[in-house]
Amino acid sequence: ARQDRRDHAVFEPARAEADRRRHRLAADLPSALDNGEIVAYYQPLYRLADRAVIGAEALARWQRPGGPLLGPPDFITLAEHTGLIRPLGRHVLERACRQAARWRRAGHDLMVSVNLSPLQLSEPTLPADVADILHRAGLPPGNLQLEITESVALDDGYAALRRLADLGVRLAMDDFGTGYSSLSLLSKLPISTVKLAAEFLAEPAVLRHTIALCHALDLTVTAEGIETAEQEALLRSLGCDTGQGYHFGRPSPADSRGCVAGCGFHVA
Ligand code: C2E
Ligand code: MG
Ligand code: MG
Ligand code: MG
Repeated sequence: ARQDRRDHAVFEPARAEADRRRHRLAADLPSALDNGEIVAYYQPLYRLADRAVIGAEALARWQRPGGPLLGPPDFITLAEHTGLIRPLGRHVLERACRQAARWRRAGHDLMVSVNLSPLQLSEPTLPADVADILHRAGLPPGNLQLEITESVALDDGYAALRRLADLGVRLAMDDFGTGYSSLSLLSKLPISTVKLAAEFLAEPAVLRHTIALCHALDLTVTAEGIETAEQEALLRSLGCDTGQGYHFGRPSPADSRGCVAGCGFHVA
C-alpha cells in the first residue's frame, strides 16, 4: 500500500502535466492547420528485388514556430477526437498529391502513399474529393495509394473503397497484423497491397506464410519498419515486394537534400 501511495505521488503530476499539454495542443491545432504548420514528410518506399525507389509514404508532422517537430502520436488521435482529422487529412492528401505531381514533372514516376483516417472514409464526398484533388494536382490516380486500417474495413467503408478503387487509386491495408486481423478481409476488400506491421519481422515463420498468403490472393506485400540489412535480406529471400524503414531512409521533408531520402534526386 505504501508503495502504491508513492507511485501516485510520482505519476499523478506527470499525468496532469500530460493532460495540460494535450489540451494546449488540441486548442492550437485548428490555427496550426490554417497557418500551414502541418506538413508532410516523406519516407521512401523501395522495391526489394532491385532496391529501386518506387514511391514514398507521406507522414504528417506539426512544425510549431520555434517549437520542436511533433509527430502523429502527439496530434493525430487528438485530431480524430475533435473531427479535425478531416481537414487535416485532406490537407496532407493535397500536399502529397501536389508533391508527387512535381516529382513526376521532374521525370520521377513515383507513387505517393497517404494514410486515411476512418473518419475521412466515412465522409460520403471522399471519393469525389479525391478525384478533384488528383485532377487539380495533375496527378494520375495510379500514382496515389491510400492506406486504410483494419478498423476502417470493419465499418461500412466498403462502398467508398470500391469507388476509390474504381477511380484507379491504389488501396493498401496498413499495419496488417496489429488489429482485429481477419484474413477474409484481404480477399473481400478492393485492396492491391498489404503493409505488414513491423512486428512481423520478429516472426520469420509467420512472415513467410503471410507473404505467401498475400501472394496467393494477388496482393503486393510491403514490409514496414525495416531497420537492418539482415531484415532486408530475409524479406527479399521471402519474396516480399517492397519495403520501407530507417535502414533505407527516414521520413524527411520533400525539399531537403537527398529527398526522397536515399533515392538520389532532389526536387525543390
Ligand atoms: P504508419 O502509417 O504505419 O507509418 C509508419 C510509421 O513508422 C511512421 O511513424 C514512420 O515514421 C515509422 N517508421 C518508419 N520506418 C521505421 C523504422 O524503421 N523503425 C521504426 N521504429 N519506425 C519506423 P509516424 O510518422 O510517427 O506516424 C505514426 C502513425 O501516424 C502512422 O503509422 C499513421 O498511422 C499515422 N499518420 C501519420 N500521418 C498521418 C496522416 O496524414 N493521416 C492519418 N490519418 N494518419 C497519419
Ligand atoms: Mg501508413
Ligand atoms: Mg498506422
Ligand atoms: Mg503502417
